[in-house]
Parts: sequence; structure tokens; C-alpha cells
Amino acid sequence: MLNTHYKDLKDSYLFYNIAQKVNAYLAQHPGTHLLRLGIGDVSQPLCAAVIDALHAAVDDQANKETFHGYMPECGAPFLRETIAAHYAKRGVVLSPDEVFVSSGASDELGDILDLFDKSAAAMVIEPAYPAYVDANVMAGRQIVHLSSGRENGFLPEPDDSIDADILYICSPNNPTGAVFSRDQLQAWVDFANRRGAVILFDAAYEAYIEDETLPHSVFELDGARTCAIEICSLSKTAGFTGTRLGYTVIPKTLERGGLNLNAMWVRNRTTKTNGISYILQKGGAAAFTDEGQSQIRQQIALYKRNAKTLTDALDRIGLWYCGGHNAPYVWLRCPNGMDSWTFFDFLLQKGQIVGTPGAGFGACGEGFFRFSTFGDPADTAEAARRLTALLG
Ligand code: PLP
Repeated sequence: MLNTHYKDLKDSYLFYNIAQKVNAYLAQHPGTHLLRLGIGDVSQPLCAAVIDALHAAVDDQANKETFHGYMPECGAPFLRETIAAHYAKRGVVLSPDEVFVSSGASDELGDILDLFDKSAAAMVIEPAYPAYVDANVMAGRQIVHLSSGRENGFLPEPDDSIDADILYICSPNNPTGAVFSRDQLQAWVDFANRRGAVILFDAAYEAYIEDETLPHSVFELDGARTCAIEICSLSKTAGFTGTRLGYTVIPKTLERGGLNLNAMWVRNRTTKTNGISYILQKGGAAAFTDEGQSQIRQQIALYKRNAKTLTDALDRIGLWYCGGHNAPYVWLRCPNGMDSWTFFDFLLQKGQIVGTPGAGFGACGEGFFRFSTFGDPADTAEAARRLTALLG
């Protein structure tokens, strides 16, 4: 009667274990201020342009003339048009009905799997955001684990031995901060078209790209319109982690086996959702105005200063790392041959710093460690000072 694939899920001890260890430490050292560089949540509030739009939208709901009931299931036209116009600034031409407004990337990464058969195998490049594997295991799908490492900069290339139908690509990557170049991503797009596979491109961190040669969207590459879906979110771009808003792009040219994925998703959304709140969509649209974009850029700049503070410390210490420049995560080699949980304990006990052990992102993450740059700047600076004192 029940979905027994849930039995196949490996218990994810990562954040549970971190919480247990942190609580045990605090019980022994009450009142300690921990420097939290572990979780991927933001620390800065929503920007003024978004807050003003949210307030105005709440007021709209108070008047019969401006009140909105159910919103269109695939998104309000004003927001779909705004997002399409945002892509156009980077030369990506989308029709507004190729943009679907969502309640965030996590929800969408799980829900989008409705489009695929259970027999479709899913390739996950590891280390990876854990939800990719778990969502497919729940559905009983076969997972093709593709390991990456320092030797390929955590950016593996496709090869014809990869036997998968759904290809997860996260760039900039969580947890490694690695970003595919245009040529590298083009190779994946060509591979997907050759195989008839579909890329699920997770662009949750595209706003952190500084190097203008790097692609923000898979649709900047030739041929992506026949093989890719892009899932994006305002969580890390505009601080919507607790407010919840995202968007998904499914080109109308994406077809497999005589079925059109855009049309299938319209059918899915009109069946399974009643749209996203008018208030949130107004708030989200404000993030794309000139004023909103400039305020968001200031917040991202603050997180980037955190990244610089941490990478400067790692440079002083001489520890290998990647990420931090075009991504909000710094991914480092654990020092002195420590495994990632040993390094976690060491930092907690000796420096009162909380990070994330790489082993939690797949077997090939062992020996590495993730720092988030979303934390409080003063705490990040203090963590960098302590890291230098402990390891320098
Ligand atoms: N994708 C990646 C790679 C993430 O790291 C996260 C959140 O940390 C998400 C998606 C989920 O984002 P959202 O808050 O939009 O659900």
C-alpha cells in the first residue's frame, strides 16, 4: 500500500548530526557564541524595494477593486513577463509562457520529476545538494553517481559511458562553488541532445557569478532549448529563503517521445497547484526592478566580502580551496589529513566554528569541508581570525 522506496533512502545524518554535536557542545559550554558558517540560509533581510512591494500588495488585498483571489497556476503574467525580460538582458530570448513561477527551487526539484517515468535513470554529479538523490530514490529511480574531485576542478565532463536520462547540473555548485565554463556546459548540452536526455539545471546561485565569461543560464548555450529545464530561486539571490519564491524555465521546444514538456508542466501545475500568492509575486517582481537589482547587488556584495575574508585566511594558511569567487560557498581540503567529521569536531571544540563536513554531500566529498558565506560579517571575520590562529 505504501511507497516502499522510502526504505531505500539512506538516513541523512548530515544536518541532524551537526545539530546534535552543536547542542551537546552548547550543553557543556552554556552561553558560548558559535560562529555559524554551516547552513546555507541567508542572514540579511529582504531589501527595501521588495518590502515596499510586499506592503503595497497586502494593501491591495484590502480593497475590493485591487483584491486578487486565485492566481494563475503557472504564475502571474506580470511576473512571467518580468522574468523573461530579465533573461533577455543576457541575450536569452524566452516567451513568458516558458517561465513558470514556483514556491522555490526545492519544491520544484521534487515536483518536476512527475514529468519522468520511473524507469528514467538520474545522473547526479557528486558532491551534490542531497535532495537530488533523495527525490529520485523516493520515486524508485536508479541513480548514476558521477564523482568529481580536485583533478577536474569538481567539474566533470560527459562521457558516453554515462547511462542516464535525467542529468542534474548545479552551477555555481553547492557545495563546491565550482562553475562550469561555457565550453564545459556546452559539452553537457551536446551530450544531452545526443542521448535524448534532459538536463535539470539548478541555477539557484547564478547571481553570484562575477566572471562575465561564465554562463548564468543553461539557455545561453546552443541547443539547450531542446534538452534543458532550468530551476531557479529568489532564495539566495534576494533573501527569499523564508518568503519562498522561485521560477522554472521549460522551453516550448523541449520534446521527448512525442510529448511536449512545457505542455505537460502546464497540465501538472493546473492540476496540482492553485498558484503562488499574489503578495509574494508582487514582492518577487520588485526584485527585478532597477532599484531592486541594485539593492540585491549590495547584499550579494556583503556576502562576497565574507567570501574574501575566508579565502584570504585560507590563502594565509595555505589550505587548498575552490569556490568563493563566483559562488557563496568555499570548499576546502581538510588540513593534516583529517576526515571531514574530525575537522568538524576540531573547529567546533577549538574555534567554536560550525561548518559542514564534505562527507554529507556524497562519498567523494570526504576529506573536504564547506563554509557558507551567508553568515554575519563580524562572525565570519572572527572565524577567519580563529582559523588563521589554529591552522596558520
Ligand atoms: N538548489 C540548491 C543547489 C540549493 O543549495 C538550495 C538551497 O540551499 C536549493 C536548490 C533550494 O532553494 P529554495 O530555497 O528555492 O528551495
